[in-house]
Amino acid sequence: MEIREFGIYGGQFVEGEILKAIKEVEYAFEQYRNDPTFLNEFHDLLKNYASRPSMLYYAKRMTEDLNGAKIYLKREDLNHTGAHKINNVLGQVLLARRMGKTRIIAETGAGQHGVATATACALFGLECEIYMGEEDMRRQALNVFRMQLLGAKVNGVKMGTKTLKDAVDAAFYDFATHLENTYYLIGSAVGPHPYPLMVREFQKVIGEEIKVQILEKENRLPDLVVACVGGGSNAIGAFYDFLNDTEVGLLGCEAAGKGLGTKLHAATMTLGKDGVFHGMYTKFIQDDLGQVLPVYSISPGLDYPGVGPEHVHLLESKRASYIAVTDEEAVYALRYLSKMEGIIPAIESAHAVFGAMQKAKTMGKDQIIVINLSGRGDKDMEELSNY
Ligand SMILES: *Cc1c(COP(=O)(O)O)cnc(C)c1O
Repeated sequence: MEIREFGIYGGQFVEGEILKAIKEVEYAFEQYRNDPTFLNEFHDLLKNYASRPSMLYYAKRMTEDLNGAKIYLKREDLNHTGAHKINNVLGQVLLARRMGKTRIIAETGAGQHGVATATACALFGLECEIYMGEEDMRRQALNVFRMQLLGAKVNGVKMGTKTLKDAVDAAFYDFATHLENTYYLIGSAVGPHPYPLMVREFQKVIGEEIKVQILEKENRLPDLVVACVGGGSNAIGAFYDFLNDTEVGLLGCEAAGKGLGTKLHAATMTLGKDGVFHGMYTKFIQDDLGQVLPVYSISPGLDYPGVGPEHVHLLESKRASYIAVTDEEAVYALRYLSKMEGIIPAIESAHAVFGAMQKAKTMGKDQIIVINLSGRGDKDMEELSNY
């Protein structure tokens, strides 16, 4: 039976031992996704370990300066480990424990997902191995050190371009060859079913909280929710609870890097083509022969050549729209938010800040924008000072 959960997008394009491993995850997820004991444990961890709910902050100076829509920031940067990634990691580690797995593996690009995974494994005393391209290990030496400090083993990947794409391949191979004790913890709303759906379920708490908090503060829903899109997990987490509230606009901001006219971008929604990649049917940046091309962004979290299939479905069905924001625009927005509100966002999140700033100017003062601030900017200071 073929499943395509998101219109024609999604699916489970894997074979052999990998399919067997993925099926085991799928059955476990179906068993526990609505299990009250499982969900209680998950929400207890979100509250007492990750420090949720994250606050919804009214950006007063920014609002006054832009002189348009009222702007709120959903402060995922205040979560333990400094980003939204911890939500998904805690959910999947709980599932792996239910499945009786004792060893967790994960891929990482810049190291942010690796650090979040190593954190949750430390919390539960699970063995943890992270696959990371050797080129990325060199560029992100500090995160390699963090993961090791947290007790994880970091495996350098020597294949291909020695970056994220190759780390994913290595992790799938490990998964297929260590079925008995190992769980593969994917870091974004990507990969074969059930991962895109499961990661969304573990991240949808962001949008659910936004809804409660904005109703409390404004007694109405926002006109627009804005989030950055790499693989798409923080964006789908922020959007999901609003999908049926069609008066709420949804805007995803992906990385235009050095410009859409160059080869140095990661604008999958804008310039990608349909195809199969990493086990899913989605859009990805490819050449005419369907080979995945290298992508680029100043944000380590946004330079992935594919995108979560649910976003492509939201684009095709016109429920959400997507724009591409350049490095230069993102850096501008990062500096702007830092000076205007005393909040230094992650360079990924700054893509959403820029998109929202453009929209805010065109909207009325009676309108409301919520920006999902996916993470804090400390990790980007070295890159930024070089820029
Ligand atoms: C990893 C990361 C992203 C991109 O991942 P998504 O799955 O698209 O959310 C965005 N912001 C921050 C702070 C990240 O660490």
